[in-house]
Amino acid sequence: MRQPIQKIPLEQELHQLQNKLNDKEMVFNNILESTMAGYWDWHIAENHEYMSPTFKHMFGYEDHELPNHPETWQNIIHPEDLPKAIKSFEDHVRSKGVIPYDNEVRYFHKDGSIVWVLCRGKVIEWDENENPIRMVGSHVDITPIKKAEEIEKYVKELENKNKELEQFAYVASHDLQEPLRTVISYSELLSRTYSKQLDENGVRFLRYIESASTRMSDLVKGLLEYNRIGRNKEWDIINLNEVIQFVEQDLASSIESTKTKIHLKNLPIIKGYRTEVRLLFQNLISNAIKFRKPTISPQITIAGHKGKNFWEITVSDNGIGIPEEYQEKIFAIFRRLHNNSEIEGTGIGLAHCKKIMDLHGGKLWVSSKVEEGSTFHIQFPK
Ligand code: ADP
Repeated sequence: MRQPIQKIPLEQELHQLQNKLNDKEMVFNNILESTMAGYWDWHIAENHEYMSPTFKHMFGYEDHELPNHPETWQNIIHPEDLPKAIKSFEDHVRSKGVIPYDNEVRYFHKDGSIVWVLCRGKVIEWDENENPIRMVGSHVDITPIKKAEEIEKYVKELENKNKELEQFAYVASHDLQEPLRTVISYSELLSRTYSKQLDENGVRFLRYIESASTRMSDLVKGLLEYNRIGRNKEWDIINLNEVIQFVEQDLASSIESTKTKIHLKNLPIIKGYRTEVRLLFQNLISNAIKFRKPTISPQITIAGHKGKNFWEITVSDNGIGIPEEYQEKIFAIFRRLHNNSEIEGTGIGLAHCKKIMDLHGGKLWVSSKVEEGSTFHIQFPK
């Protein structure tokens, strides 16, 4: 007679095994989900390849949208990277698994963007002739890492280019000084010694040479100074009230002769590079005086405004103003709206200011109305 009692432990054992299996699968799926990896299981002989839903989600597809077939991934891998993946597989098989199947390849996302994938796998079954019959592996999305690497590379290239440019500008302007000094001193000598022997035209031409070479010398000096900005920078705690006081002392004679009034409001203490910040305000204040209206004396207001992550300082004047179409262009090097016979200058002051604010990771822009005045806005990060 049969013993039905024996059936119960077997069923129980099966049940327990089933539970264990479910538990393992649950752990495996959770690991996959938390690492955001996908996996694949390739039955080589049957030419069937299971791809996990997480594998497909990585490229923007739902599970049912991509058939479980080796051709599927071959269709969405970047064509330039397919040979690399095939070679890695061949090396792995030829070495009987000693060389790992491990490569970084690009795939196309459903939206057309590139997804970088770290793809690793191994053959887990071989036939009696040592041909692979089953291989499994994983896919990890490494796009953010690749993007960060690209940005880092780009930043390095930019830094190098910048250094080269700085060097070039320095050498060019430095070497230009010497022949220029010669032109200036000999034209002075010529005018001192021979002016009586020259006719009217000769004197006039000589004056042109002198003024053009003096102007060129100013431009070259400006370039050299532009280059020097930030070279010996020292981070400091700066009281802007004090900085403006020093600038007022430096500009005392033009402030007095033009009857300029400077009003300070709510100026903060900031972190920055002292020498550069002083130069910044010196340029803005002297411009506010220089570009005044002929009929009224300049009124300049320098005010601090507290932002969430920055201090904004505005420097406002009641001068001639700047037409809207030039309000961005004036920050470029040597860009001027007036020629030298109208108002003197080299056109480098605002380029200095821009470079100084870049150095501080801040911003500088202008808002202005012709005939009413201009407000230069400066933002220092806190
Ligand atoms: P520069 O003062 O030597 O001409 P800047 O680079 O300091 O050179 O200024 C560039 C141009 O921007 C000036 O030539 C002028 O046309 C304009 N500008 C600058 N500041 C003001 C201002 N406060 N009011 C009106 N125009 C200004």
